[in-house]
Amino acid sequence: MHHLIWRNKTDGLFWHSSVMEHIDHLRRMGLFDARVPRYTSYPPATAFCPQTEETFQVSCLKSLDPATPVSVYIHIPFCERLCWFCACRTQGTTTLKPVANYLRVVKEELALLRATLPAGVRMGQMHWGGGTPTILPPDMIRDLAQAIQDVIPPAPDFSFSVEIDPTLVDDDKIAVLADVGMTRASIGIQDFAVDVQQAIGREQSFATTLACVDSLRAAGITSLNADLVYGLPHQTPAKLANTIAKVHALDPDRIALFGYAHVPTFSKRQKLIPDDALPGEEQRYHLAQQAAVAFTSSGYQAIGIDHFGKPGDNLTIAANSGHLRRNFQGYTDDTCPTLVGIGASSISQFAQGYVQNAAATAAYVERVEAGKLPGHRGYQMTAKDRLRAAAINMLMCDFEIDLQKLDAHADARDLLPIHNAILEEFAGYVTATGQGLRITPAGRPLTRIVAQRYDSFGDIAAQYSQAS
Ligand code: SF4
Repeated sequence: MHHLIWRNKTDGLFWHSSVMEHIDHLRRMGLFDARVPRYTSYPPATAFCPQTEETFQVSCLKSLDPATPVSVYIHIPFCERLCWFCACRTQGTTTLKPVANYLRVVKEELALLRATLPAGVRMGQMHWGGGTPTILPPDMIRDLAQAIQDVIPPAPDFSFSVEIDPTLVDDDKIAVLADVGMTRASIGIQDFAVDVQQAIGREQSFATTLACVDSLRAAGITSLNADLVYGLPHQTPAKLANTIAKVHALDPDRIALFGYAHVPTFSKRQKLIPDDALPGEEQRYHLAQQAAVAFTSSGYQAIGIDHFGKPGDNLTIAANSGHLRRNFQGYTDDTCPTLVGIGASSISQFAQGYVQNAAATAAYVERVEAGKLPGHRGYQMTAKDRLRAAAINMLMCDFEIDLQKLDAHADARDLLPIHNAILEEFAGYVTATGQGLRITPAGRPLTRIVAQRYDSFGDIAAQYSQAS
């Protein structure tokens, strides 16, 4: 994602000849070649270590303070269609039989959690992702929500978001989701151009999406997020402009604009997308810029590296008050320090570190049915890891490092050699401040690359997507 012109939308810099020069500079900084984590966690999940014993997960869960609400994430690893561009961990199904079996095992995992968690732990936020949570029929939606709330009851001001596939939802499902407490819906769109949709194996009309949005609003869901993707096959500025106009007609409160990461070596379905249909690196850059200009010109505020929010949206408020954070869903206003992941491949985040449940559904089921909590990989944080994690989060959210704000970490000054190296390497794009450093608006496309300089796990970079 790119920010060169976000603060210059009135002076036409997007079309200024210096843009090409700027792109050349960014290329020299490695923007188009670097393979960089998205830093939804630090260390990235690729650095987690195998663990076969439950000890670490159990001790993290037992140590939770019931006075502090937790966030809960539940993964539904099923889709009716398997879109070719998508690298999510999910499996296709045309029947509800495997889904019902999975929910049975999730309830067993919840029983294991109930036996482990201290009494009185409550949930401040919950997110259902996948896969396709809306593959669940109304009775399963109600049953799952009830099962979770029985084990971890909602705290006051509880919020609950669900990823919605507009082609696999109806009024009945939305009514039940609203009834069990859904407060925000995240709607998958990607792009409305028919040939782009066909090239990524995901067809979804504007009429279907609009009907979904209308139904959500009629059910009282007032916070809507739209997910878009740039860099898709056959995407052009004209088609993107058309998609943006349609997104404006839907009037979402937030927009997430992700760059398509083409990594067919790791995501086999992406082999169905021919390389030569993809926009080149400069086209990708301009598509991202075009979308950013369109959204910021129409009243959205740019948030972090890839989000936009209306002025009154909670994410915008969090960004403006210094409370924006990264978690596995991307940017969040979630203030809960602990995330409890439930279901196959879900990741839990504790003060002590991370625990990821067995990723393959069969392995997850086998572990839970053996009576074990399903965490099978993880990472125990050291004080140095915490410092680096805080620095990377600050950079990804605020585009600056303020050592004073890192004072909770006694060794924050240890970062100074990294700061100095960054200031030299990214001269002109990163500037020194009294308390640390700041990425300039022109340097924001490089944010993930700058963040990687704080990452001591950089040798696994080939597994990540390109930085632009
Ligand atoms: S984009 Fe959504 S519906 Fe398509 S495969 Fe990915 S998770 Fe499933």
